[in-house]
Amino acid sequence: MAKVKVATVWLEACAGCHMSFLDIDERLVDLVDLVDIVYSPIVDGKKIPKATVGVIEGALGNDEELHLAKEMRKQCDIIVAWGDCAVFGGINCMRNFTDRRQALKEAYVDSPSTVNPGGVIPHEDIPHLLPQAIPVDHEVKVDVYVPGCPPDADTILWVFQELLEGRVPTVPSEMMRYD
Ligand code: SF4
Repeated sequence: MAKVKVATVWLEACAGCHMSFLDIDERLVDLVDLVDIVYSPIVDGKKIPKATVGVIEGALGNDEELHLAKEMRKQCDIIVAWGDCAVFGGINCMRNFTDRRQALKEAYVDSPSTVNPGGVIPHEDIPHLLPQAIPVDHEVKVDVYVPGCPPDADTILWVFQELLEGRVPTVPSEMMRYD
């Protein structure tokens, strides 16, 4: 049987959801017998190819992330929003209480650990911030929501198993994790 092609992407996020995915541990060995990870932070892919399942970790906070989310939607049959950042916007939304200029100044000039005597704020060579950090489904259709910060490894595996069985799952509340 042909393997199911899966793409995953890490947008505005801490990578904790991908770490939780790796927490599937030895069960990953069985999973990779069934899926082919064609694009992901953990493989060396340059372009998002066609895939059956596209997993998005992270909110949309800049124009590059917005582009990647739209590419995922275009290339993947089923989009999974992985974790609170993708589902709700998550901790990234803390900057929504201020404007973009102030958020950049805080990040590049004012934060206690920053040494930037010239007060230089890069603006041309980095992706431009969107007005606010937003959940993925504010811009692209999401088919499966997996909340949690991060979602539990067992929940992530269950979602994959459901998808491999041909079902589009709704995660039951008892499988959601917020610790
Ligand atoms: S949902 Fe939590 S663990 Fe996942 S990327 Fe966001 S902050 Fe990190």
